[in-house]
Amino acid sequence: MFVVLYVDLVMARKMLNDDEMNKPSEEEAHYDFDLFVIGAGSGGVRASRFSAQYGAKVGICELPFHPISSEVSGGVGGTCVIRGCVPKKILVYGANFGPELEDARNYGWDVNERPNFNWKTLLHKKTEEIVRLNGIYKRLLANVKLFEGEGRVIGPNEVEVIQLDGTKISYSAKNILIATGSRAQRIAIPGQELAITSDEALSLEDLPRRVVILGGGYIAVEFASIWRGMGAKVDLCFRKELPLRGFDDEMRAVVARNLEGRGINMHPCTTLTELAKTEDGIRARTDHGEDLLADVVLFATGRIPNSKRLNLEAVGVELDKTGAVKVDEFSRTNIPSIWAIGDVTNRMNLTPVALMEGTFFAKTVFAGEPTKPDYTNIPCAVFCIPPLSVVGLSEEEAIEKANGDIAVYTSSFNPMKNTISGRQEKSVMKLIVDKETDKVIGVSMCGPDAPEIMQGIAVALKCGATKAQFDATVGIHPSAAEEFVTMRSVTRVVPGARKPKTNL
Ligand code: FAD
Repeated sequence: MFVVLYVDLVMARKMLNDDEMNKPSEEEAHYDFDLFVIGAGSGGVRASRFSAQYGAKVGICELPFHPISSEVSGGVGGTCVIRGCVPKKILVYGANFGPELEDARNYGWDVNERPNFNWKTLLHKKTEEIVRLNGIYKRLLANVKLFEGEGRVIGPNEVEVIQLDGTKISYSAKNILIATGSRAQRIAIPGQELAITSDEALSLEDLPRRVVILGGGYIAVEFASIWRGMGAKVDLCFRKELPLRGFDDEMRAVVARNLEGRGINMHPCTTLTELAKTEDGIRARTDHGEDLLADVVLFATGRIPNSKRLNLEAVGVELDKTGAVKVDEFSRTNIPSIWAIGDVTNRMNLTPVALMEGTFFAKTVFAGEPTKPDYTNIPCAVFCIPPLSVVGLSEEEAIEKANGDIAVYTSSFNPMKNTISGRQEKSVMKLIVDKETDKVIGVSMCGPDAPEIMQGIAVALKCGATKAQFDATVGIHPSAAEEFVTMRSVTRVVPGARKPKTNL
C-alpha cells in the first residue's frame, strides 16, 4: 500500500514540477494523512473518494447533520443534498401537481372538488429522502476516515477537529483541502430576524398562505414557483427591472411574464426596508412605502463563502473581499499544501462544478495528471415553473465577446400540451450563432423539460457544433426539442465586439 502510494506521490510531484512537493520520503511517511478535507459536501466527498481511489490516505471532517445549517451543524452530503438542489427539486415536483391538475381538466379528467394538498406529507417524505441520501454519502466514504466535528486549519500541514463533546484533536496532512461551501446571507434591515433563508424554507412546519420573497436570483424565483404552485399568495421583490440578473435579458423577460401569468405578484425595482410583527403576520415594508403582509418572509439575497471560522488568514491563506478562498487554475491556494474547491472559492457555484473541481483536484495531486477545470459551456437550470435552462453565452455576453456579427434565432410557440389544456403560456427557445465561424455559442430555453433538453445540447456545444450541424440533425416528432433543429430564419443579426445596451 505504502509503495503504491509513494509511487503516486512521486509521479504527482514530477508532473506538478513543484519544489514544495519535493520533500524527503521519511517526512511523507510521518504525516497522519496524505489528504485532509474540511467539509463533506459535493466537492469534498468527490475529492476525498477519488483521492482514496488513487491510493491516498484520506481523512475528512463534517459538522453533525441538521436540515438547517449553522456554524456548528451541517451533515455529510452538504448543501446540495440536505438543503439545496435535492430537497428543492422535490418541492418543485410537489408544486407542479397543482397546475398539472388544472391542466388535466380539458384532457377529460374530472377534478370536481378542490384537491387538498398536505404539506406535512411532502415535508416528511422530503426529510426521509435527505436522511437516506446522507446515509448513502457516508457509505461513499468507506475508504476515507470520517470525523464528525468542526475542522479548522492550524498550519500548512495541520488541521484540528473540534468534536461534538468539545474535545480537540489535531492531525498532520501532506495536503489540506478546504471544501466548506457557502451559507445564505441576510440583509441588515430592522426586523431582519423575522425573515427566513432557503435553509428554513425547505423545512417549514406549515405551508404559508402568504409569502414575501426578497431577491431576484434563481433561489428566489424557484421558491416563488414552489409556494405559488402549492396555492400560496406570493409577492416577489427584486432590485432590477427583471429577475435573474446574469441570464439572457430576453429570457429573463420570458420568466418574469410566466411567473406573473401563474399568479405571482412581481415587484421590480423594489427592496424591503423593514419587517415588523403584527397580529396578522409579518408586515414587510418596501422602499416604495407599500406594506405587504406575510406568514413567511424569505431572504434570498445571496450567499457567502464559509471561510470565517477556518483560521485561514492566521495561516496566511489569501481570501478575496467576499471571504472566498483565492485559488489558481488547479484549485491551489497561495500556501502550496492547501487547496480549495466548490462554493468556498466562489467561482461558479453549482454542484456539478464542485464535483468537477473535486475530480480534477484528485487527478492533479494524486494521479500525477495536472488537470484544470474547464468552465466553458457549463449548462445550468432555474427550476421555476416552467423552468429556464441555458448553456453557453447570453445574447449580451455574445455581443461583448464575439469578434464579428452574431445571428440570433428565436422561437416562441404554444407547447402542444397547452393547445388542449388551454394554458396561455408560450415556450421560448433561442440560439446564438457566431456568423464568422457558424458555431452555436449560446442556447436558452424556457418551457417544460428545458433542463432535460439542454443537457444534450450542452454536449453539442462542448463538441463545437455549428448551426449547419444543428440544421442537419433530424428532429424527434412531436416534441418541443425538435424546434432546436428546425429554426431556419434569423430573427436578427447583431454586431459583436461592443458593450451591449442593457441595464435590466
Ligand atoms: P457544500 O455542499 O455546501 O458542502 C460544504 C460542507 O462543508 C457542508 O456540508 C458544511 O456543513 C461543511 N462545513 C462547513 N464548515 C465546516 C467546518 N468548519 N468543518 C467541517 N465541515 C464544515 N446547484 C446546482 O447545481 N443545481 C441546483 O439546482 C441547485 N440548487 C440549489 C438550491 C439551493 C436552495 C441552494 C442553497 C443551493 C443550490 N445549488 C444548486 C448550489 C449547490 O448546492 C452548491 O453549489 C454545492 O452544494 C456546493 O458544493 P460544495 O462542496 O462547495 O459545498
